[in-house]
Amino acid sequence: MSDSSCPTLRFSSESREFERLRTRYFNGRVPPTTPAIICCPKSTAEVVAEILVANNRGTKAGVRSGGHLFPCTSLVQDGLLIDTCELNRTIEYNPKTRVVSFGPAVTVKELAHYLTGISRFFPFGHSPSVGAAGFLLAGGQGWFLRGWGCTSDTWITQLEIVTASGKTIIANKEQNSDIFWAAPGSGQGFFAVVTRIWARTIPAKSIFDTTIVLDTTGIFKPLLKYILRKCDELPKYGVDVAISTCYADRDAKGTHDDSNDNRVLINVNCTAYADSAEEANVLLKPLDSISESYKNCMLVRVPTEKRTWADLWKIQDDFAPSGGGERWQCDSILNDPQVPLDQLVDAITPALQDLPSRLTVGFICVADYYPDERDQALSLPQKYYISTMSCWRDPRRDQVMRKWMLDTYSRAGEVSCGQYAADFDATQRMSKIMTDSALTRWLEVREKWDPEEMFVGHRGFSDILRKECIMPKHKL
Ligand SMILES: Cc1cc2nc3c(=O)[nH]c(=O)nc-3n(C[C@H](O)[C@H](O)[C@H](O)COP(=O)(O)OP(=O)(O)OC[C@H]3O[C@@H](n4cnc5c(N)ncnc54)[C@H](O)[C@@H]3O)c2cc1C
Repeated sequence: MSDSSCPTLRFSSESREFERLRTRYFNGRVPPTTPAIICCPKSTAEVVAEILVANNRGTKAGVRSGGHLFPCTSLVQDGLLIDTCELNRTIEYNPKTRVVSFGPAVTVKELAHYLTGISRFFPFGHSPSVGAAGFLLAGGQGWFLRGWGCTSDTWITQLEIVTASGKTIIANKEQNSDIFWAAPGSGQGFFAVVTRIWARTIPAKSIFDTTIVLDTTGIFKPLLKYILRKCDELPKYGVDVAISTCYADRDAKGTHDDSNDNRVLINVNCTAYADSAEEANVLLKPLDSISESYKNCMLVRVPTEKRTWADLWKIQDDFAPSGGGERWQCDSILNDPQVPLDQLVDAITPALQDLPSRLTVGFICVADYYPDERDQALSLPQKYYISTMSCWRDPRRDQVMRKWMLDTYSRAGEVSCGQYAADFDATQRMSKIMTDSALTRWLEVREKWDPEEMFVGHRGFSDILRKECIMPKHKL
């Protein structure tokens, strides 16, 4: 039922649209949490109107853009869900400043199409359907992160924000700089609505990639150590390295959750951003030679080829399918830089090798990124981002899968300095998402901008400072 007192599209639970909108998430495992109202504002003024009504009524709120956060924390029981799917859905480029601006739910695919059309680039995310605001509030592990850092760091120049008191503000390094500082790394905890984003751009180049697939049977740990050392030989600028693990029958036809093939493969995918094939070959040269000890386990080598974004998205979509009843969970660690490689590999091997279902993927992003907490709340060092995205279809497996993740990442957590904010799940394992000093400052900024706590996604963040909550015993 839409409410005619307000121009914004608003839906209550009696509406036919309500359930479709409530479950508009990448994850098929949407919790039963039911907001009182879901609204889809088209303009910043409509967001302001929604916030003022919520403010008067003391309603709690959540915000959704692309809907990729696996725990679906934008759903607030009996609260307001502000779905930005229609909000300011335009992309504009200013040729004088070379800055592009766009709405919060604009996707990677839309940004890439637009920017390719004008031969410009900034590092958006890898998956075509990820929303801009959620991606940037997590920090944004965008393309070519090793050289440029997270996208929030040096690419995002300004945000338009509607605050919990219903004010529209511009936030950048000069104006409202505290909320601009707090946004990257907030993830689900952000305490206002991002309504528009500005990013600087550079001239576009071409993308080239190469992949090696290796069978890890009997040699998982030494092979992984070898690959991680090899990655250090690759130049930092213009080269991405993604290492993933999966069962050999991952792409088999059928909907079965269990693997029938106990071989685990490692895929090493390297992408270069270059002006020519010759330049790409120079950037990716260290991968040309593989030690004699591991040559026998190499199953495939895809030579370096020029790619389109669409080619890369197809690989992404095949690796992370959605919309077919897939149920997802993710946990991650950022490795503690003090922990030696042998100890790190011992601790993370179960997360990457003992995969709990056929569609589950282990992942290492070689990030090589060391942010400065004076610049942004996103502050933990990211040499390696190590994660497992577990996927299954049978809802009866939910408990078993969650227990696997908790057990496996409690172990991996021992060699970590925290986790990426996008993977924070207060109902599962608690881990740091910022340094303690950044989080202390972040909590103060949050309190200043949302003293009545309209936005509740941050709940659980303050518990992170209590050391005993970092590694809870099994909660299941
Ligand atoms: C298949 C897949 C691939 C991914 N690839 C990458 C990747 O390459 N790099 C990377 O860094 N991450 C990646 N992620 C993680 C992803 O960036 C995060 O899950 C991110 O939060 C998704 O943003 P979203 O807008 O799509 O999700 P949403 O679920 O809509 O948003 C996540 C949270 O952000 C907040 N939020 C969203 N929009 C707003 C807004 N307008 N104003 C205020 N708060 C808001 C809300 O608290 C919300 O709960 C990937 C995730 C998936 C599922």
